Amino acid sequence: MPYADPEKKREYMKRYNPKYYESTKEPRKTVSKNTGKKRVLREEKTAFITETLGSVCATCGDEEASIKVAENYSPLPKAIADHSWIHINLMLMNGVFSLICSDCRKYGAPSDNH
Ligand SMILES: [Zn+2]
Repeated sequence: MPYADPEKKREYMKRYNPKYYESTKEPRKTVSKNTGKKRVLREEKTAFITETLGSVCATCGDEEASIKVAENYSPLPKAIADHSWIHINLMLMNGVFSLICSDCRKYGAPSDNH
């Protein structure tokens, strides 16, 4: 609201400011909303990779398998689930990921030892 007279404007703002600050007292929580969305997206990407790879350890069939990045691509510049869908699809098509259980990760797959 334009006021030519600064004194009038000051008076107007004196009445307006308390109303404004009262109505915006509650924080908008934009940060937690965004991290929530990001968490869901990461979970979706991880689930997609796991399902595409068959959901079990590629070596022994254990269902408690996690995603492993092929050695010549490891470490990736950022977390697996932080990559774009396009990059995730490309990496899946090119065999960058595999599923491995904690035992095979720890002791090596039978094929590594023969
Ligand atoms: Zn295994």
